[in-house]
Amino acid sequence: MVYLKCSNVVSKISEIIDGQASLMTRMRFHGHLMMCNNCRRYFEQYKIVKELAGKVTADDLPEDFDHVMEFVMNKIENKDA
Ligand SMILES: [Zn+2]
Repeated sequence: MVYLKCSNVVSKISEIIDGQASLMTRMRFHGHLMMCNNCRRYFEQYKIVKELAGKVTADDLPEDFDHVMEFVMNKIENKDA
């Protein structure tokens, strides 16, 4: 009852984050995440980027993008520590 392939999980990520995914999709998605470190990490990363993107206006994005990514990477590294 869970996704077996990481590619399935990755393809559903934006649906999950936006709350568009069905209950079945969410169950399969999170079931995979429980077994798969890589997808868990990717999902966390994606959520942080989404969250930050909401706080940055489109006009700011080109200049600030590297800075934002750096911030994201630091956040992720701190989480693992
Ligand atoms: Zn995976």
